[in-house]
Amino acid sequence: MSILLTGGAGYIGSHTAVSMLQAGIDVVLADNFVNSSPKVLARIEAITGVRPTLIEADLCDREAVRAIFRAHEISGVVHFAGLKAVGESVAQPLRYYRNNLDSALTVLEVMREFGRTQFVFSSSATVYGDQPAPLTESAQTGGCSNPYGWTKFMIEEILKSAAAAGPQLSVVLLRYFNPVGAHESGLIGENPNGTPNNLMPYITQVAVGRREKLTVFGDDYDTPDGSGVRDYIHVCDLAEGHLAALRYAESHTGCEVFNLGTGRGSSVFEMVRTFGEVNGVDVPYVIGPRRAGDLAAVYADPAKAQQVLGWTAKRSLADMCRDAWNFQRRNPNGYE
Ligand code: NAD
Ligand code: UDP
Repeated sequence: MSILLTGGAGYIGSHTAVSMLQAGIDVVLADNFVNSSPKVLARIEAITGVRPTLIEADLCDREAVRAIFRAHEISGVVHFAGLKAVGESVAQPLRYYRNNLDSALTVLEVMREFGRTQFVFSSSATVYGDQPAPLTESAQTGGCSNPYGWTKFMIEEILKSAAAAGPQLSVVLLRYFNPVGAHESGLIGENPNGTPNNLMPYITQVAVGRREKLTVFGDDYDTPDGSGVRDYIHVCDLAEGHLAALRYAESHTGCEVFNLGTGRGSSVFEMVRTFGEVNGVDVPYVIGPRRAGDLAAVYADPAKAQQVLGWTAKRSLADMCRDAWNFQRRNPNGYE
């Protein structure tokens, strides 16, 4: 039996594929490469010694998804596939709602046709909207500030309803905080198209000389140093969280939700400082205005994942900075 990783060629999917293969779990990856490259497959093979099946498919295409389930014995799905750029979702809301909702619904419906019940979903801390940290899973959701966030909220609601209606279904909603870093081999990592929206890839591109300087979006927040605070989590810790979630799904039905974060907030200035110290490179920056829609401080209460899944993030901010830089340095132009 295999686990289907939709969006498996992407940043988090590829790291999860490595964790699963190294744990002896067979995986099938499906991706349409809208934000990734098939070249990641050789990298996964170089790390694990296993070349998993990678299928080019649009997960909104019902026949293509059926073909995957026909060709492979899929016992469970981790649904990473989705568009994720916040700004783009504001400019192209229909594309985001169509792609993210349609792919989730299609995969769920085909799973049901084939009698499959385990579904782990890549959700996001963005579903909490503007609420005081630390955020627990019982905090209210909604109040998202962009269409991307609403797609996560809506898919969560769809999954809750489906699990309530079909008692054999086993759904795990994973609310990721801020995944950063890369596999320690430097072979796989984050490889955004165009100008990075997120802090860590922007920092690594400044450090490697692709961009002149970082703009710190606001230094007048109500935080210890005035810059925004987030819960950065090493992508390999996050990947391992998916193994724990799958094990949970195998032995429980219904719908459970878990935060995947460290519980520790770090500021933009702390990140820039740590990156410079760990890697011995300078990251020039200027202070700019606040970015629209940004919150002062967002971090998790990760206790539930620790208590119920037995999972906890182990890697430090220094590890995240070192590994992100290692990947960027070895792959100045991504996988190309
Ligand atoms: P990513 O863009 O690297 O990976 C997503 C993958 O899905 C890409 O390879 C893309 O080509 C693929 N894809 C998109 N639509 C598809 C479709 N219709 N059919 C087939 N493939 C499709 O992003 P990521 O950072 O690895 O994120 C994975 C998931 O986690 C996403 O759902 C994202 O919203 C969610 N998430 C990410 C973050 C983050 O900061 N990276 C935070 C919270 C949640
Ligand atoms: N940030 C910044 N400059 C950048 C990108 C991000 O100062 O070029 C800040 C941003 O304001 C926030 C933090 O870094 O406080 C993390 O931003 P990111 O976009 O990575 O994550 P998100 O805001 O979605 O949690």
